[in-house]
Amino acid sequence: FPSRLPNVGTTIFTVMSALAAEHQAVNLGQGFPDFHCDPQLIDAVTRAMQAGHNQYPPMAGVPALRQAVASKIEALHARQYCPNAEITITAGATQAILTAILACVQPGDEVIVLEPCYDSYVPNIALAGGVVVRVPLTPGSFRPDFAKIAAAITPRTRLLIINTPHNPSATVWTADDMRTLEELLAPTDVLLISDEVYEHMVFDGAEHQSAARFAGLAERAFIVSSFGKTFHVTGWKVGTVAAPAAMTAEFRKVHQFNVFTVNTPMQYGLADYLQNPAPYLQLPAFYQAKRDLFRQGLEGSRLKLLPSTGSYFQCVDISAVSDLNEADFCQWLTREIGVAAIPLSAFYGDGFDQRVVRFCFAKKDETLRAAIERLRTL
Ligand code: PMP
Ligand code: GLN
Repeated sequence: FPSRLPNVGTTIFTVMSALAAEHQAVNLGQGFPDFHCDPQLIDAVTRAMQAGHNQYPPMAGVPALRQAVASKIEALHARQYCPNAEITITAGATQAILTAILACVQPGDEVIVLEPCYDSYVPNIALAGGVVVRVPLTPGSFRPDFAKIAAAITPRTRLLIINTPHNPSATVWTADDMRTLEELLAPTDVLLISDEVYEHMVFDGAEHQSAARFAGLAERAFIVSSFGKTFHVTGWKVGTVAAPAAMTAEFRKVHQFNVFTVNTPMQYGLADYLQNPAPYLQLPAFYQAKRDLFRQGLEGSRLKLLPSTGSYFQCVDISAVSDLNEADFCQWLTREIGVAAIPLSAFYGDGFDQRVVRFCFAKKDETLRAAIERLRTL
């Protein structure tokens, strides 16, 4: 029957994880930790289940969790969100982004994405009947090109999607970047999705610049995050959206008929666990150590390391190692060398190939060492 998504296959993350499993490769492809979360978080969820929190929660999320999220945003970014009217708990960031798009994009509306971008954005826009407008990040540096973004805005532009820290390039937007965007959008009605799922993974003293910090962005933004990333539980699929009340009201209209609610005991457990800020405040140092271990291990190899200032990804230029295109290289690397990676071309609509692949370093040190040993044979 006629496809709603004729150009979409199986996501690259599923494909590469399956190939890694088939070849017993070290899986540095799909972004997920291979270590356990904090046992205290498991205890908190277990207690919630034992206390009987096993039925539908309120549609927008458990109040204690919404309050904890609002308090965290206020402490980190000095902006108040009303837990009742402006914070919603979602089934991961993936659902948050789709729901936000469905809530605000009408057929024919233009939506700007900055490529490379996370692979769900473009199909999500297509499902809403939106017109995808692709603006490249600057090749090489992956920095936003504000002149190009400005040139892409038309009277039909409804929404812009940004992502910092950035998957896949591991770059981080500065406060100046956010201020420039704020000025650029000021005379427009363009809404913003700010995908901040890697908000707690910034390195070398850099600070995460949430859209919440900038009044002119916050007033038009769905700010999306994910406990999966922050607390090493990607399989739990619990995320959050912070947005002004009028935007949240529209968001919840879709949310209630999309998932309706998100699993209850995880929400209680997370609300409890969030009372202590130490786990997320320690995350930059935790991941910076892993990034450094991985980078040091590859120094002097023929893989050229690109900067990694945020997220849990490390990109490398493969041109000194292979003549294969990125996608074929990742297949070959998995089968022959035993390490899985993700080609950056998977994050571009036209499959743009710049000889760069992405590794995920959210892994045990021993996993990273095993990968390094194999990669050094290249
Ligand atoms: N946005 C980005 C940039 C991501 O990297 C991911 C996870 N890979 C998501 C959204 C989805 O997050 P979740 O697992 O919470 O759905
Ligand atoms: N966000 C993860 C990544 O970029 C994967 C999520 C998924 O498998 N859909 O690797």
